[in-house]
Amino acid sequence: MGPSPTGGSKRLDRRAVFVDRDGTLNPDLHYLSDAARVEVFRGVGEGLRLLRAHGFLIVCVTNQSGIERGFYTAADVDAIHARINVLLAPLGAGVDRFYYCPHAPGTNCRCRKPGVELFERAKSELGIDLRASAIIGDRSLDVEAGETLGLLTVLVPPPGHEADVLREASSGGPRPDVVASSFRAAALHILHRG
Ligand SMILES: [Mg+2]
Ligand SMILES: [Zn+2]
Repeated sequence: MGPSPTGGSKRLDRRAVFVDRDGTLNPDLHYLSDAARVEVFRGVGEGLRLLRAHGFLIVCVTNQSGIERGFYTAADVDAIHARINVLLAPLGAGVDRFYYCPHAPGTNCRCRKPGVELFERAKSELGIDLRASAIIGDRSLDVEAGETLGLLTVLVPPPGHEADVLREASSGGPRPDVVASSFRAAALHILHRG
């Protein structure tokens, strides 16, 4: 896929699955800075492989406020993303593009989820049809971003937090279209919808 011509309109015809990173692809180790410590959840590789095999681009959108907080650098984050793809490659899977927000919440940027600026950037850079796309995440901010964009929203609650998530949804929080028990199950839901 080449770059779109300057000022030209790009066809928005690619389907994508947006995926959260921490707590969704990999265990959330809180301000992880060392790529050597990254692990990918069981089932993520298979789920991503199936989605890609059905023509979905895989786009990871992640909040990495640890950069602005000074806990790690953008280069550390890039190394973690490269490592995730190294771990996924033997499973026939991978992430096509990573986008991250480096800002702390107080910066009030528009790219930190549930803000949707990074998703909009992916849409225009990759030619994504949002109506044919989905998001998989572990937190209500992922669902909220997906709702704003009109994506199919799939929540995979962190183990042990299923009840919290459902309570949040039923008390005015963002309501996921689907609650799945694993990343693999989330991928299958997306493949089998309508
Ligand atoms: Mg997360
Ligand atoms: Zn930001």
